[in-house]
Amino acid sequence: MKDFIYADNAATTRISDSVLAEMLPYLKENYGNASSLYQIGRNSHQAIEKARKTVAELIGASPVEIFFTSGGSEADNWALKGVMRKSAASGKKHMITTAIEHHAVLHSAKALENEGFEVTYLPVDELGRVSAQDVKEAIRSDTALVSVMYANNEIGTIQPVREIGAVCKDAGVLFHTDAVQAAGILPIDVKADNIDMMAISAHKFHGPKGVGALYCKKGLFPEALVDGGAQERGHRAGTENVAGIIGMAKAFSEACAEMKEKAEKLSAMRDEVQEGLLKIHDSRLNGDPENRLPGNLNISFSGVDGQSLLFDLDLQGLAASSGSACASGSVDPSHVLMAIGIPYEMAHGSLRISLGKYNKKEEAGRIIKIVSEVVLRLRGEA
Ligand SMILES: *Cc1c(COP(=O)(O)O)cnc(C)c1O
Repeated sequence: MKDFIYADNAATTRISDSVLAEMLPYLKENYGNASSLYQIGRNSHQAIEKARKTVAELIGASPVEIFFTSGGSEADNWALKGVMRKSAASGKKHMITTAIEHHAVLHSAKALENEGFEVTYLPVDELGRVSAQDVKEAIRSDTALVSVMYANNEIGTIQPVREIGAVCKDAGVLFHTDAVQAAGILPIDVKADNIDMMAISAHKFHGPKGVGALYCKKGLFPEALVDGGAQERGHRAGTENVAGIIGMAKAFSEACAEMKEKAEKLSAMRDEVQEGLLKIHDSRLNGDPENRLPGNLNISFSGVDGQSLLFDLDLQGLAASSGSACASGSVDPSHVLMAIGIPYEMAHGSLRISLGKYNKKEEAGRIIKIVSEVVLRLRGEA
């Protein structure tokens, strides 16, 4: 493929070489089914349990609290549907989430509404922040679950998770967080952060696609989503994605080890790009300028159509996104930008640049040049 700049790390990331190397033996000679009793099966089983311990330690959990899934979407679906369907038996049929969640959460909540559950969608302020006080006021006697994302995938805003978790704990309500954008980027300690359930996904931190995990506080077992064999201690059926699980543990370890250094590098580069792009007239920064993921930049340009912008940027060798990857292709502006009150026309011309560890410092200048030229051309000003 010809040389291009990849600036869509919130959509997915390139697998790291060391992660791939660690996975390969489990796709080749070590192909045993982890449930089998002969040697290569036992090898797989042991490797999975080692990976479970690694993932657990990196978030301050214990191994029995980690359940591997097919990714972040499944983990979010499982947390919401599994908890609500189980709690219905005790008459608790209400849950709380926010207007800016990923579709894995929002569409799970919608599906639950269709099953007869009630969902409160909390608003956010103009920076994209959910208030713990709002969560507190929304909790009712029949509330079973609160689900608030750790950090937003479009604008990068980081939520007051610890505070929200404390509110839930006080009220005796379970707290789930979609930490897919935060894992490997921000330090997470499920105990200190008062988290009962948490979704993570390997491909957002340089691991393979199609593997993730749901952390569930000890003793908490949401109703199964996938029925079948007795894998994951009988809670999530399906022959384990051995290589994927091993890859996830390796990638998560690497990401956590590089966290501080990476955050400094990415935020410096992001700030440089931000400064350059905000020089374009009639542009604005979306989201929280301070409390934001280090590699995230979301900017709107008036008088520009987001789809045309992405198409032209791609032609110039820049891979970026408008809002979430899942929303692109649809003409509706992002639900996140709408929720923070960005005017429709501005939301339509939004651009998300998300930087990752493989971006080079020199790329900042090229990104500024390419975006500036394309925006002016699309506006008919160049
Ligand atoms: C990517 C993403 C997901 C979905 O994870 P997959 O592993 O791709 O299914 C969920 N939530 C957020 C915030 C994400 O960024």
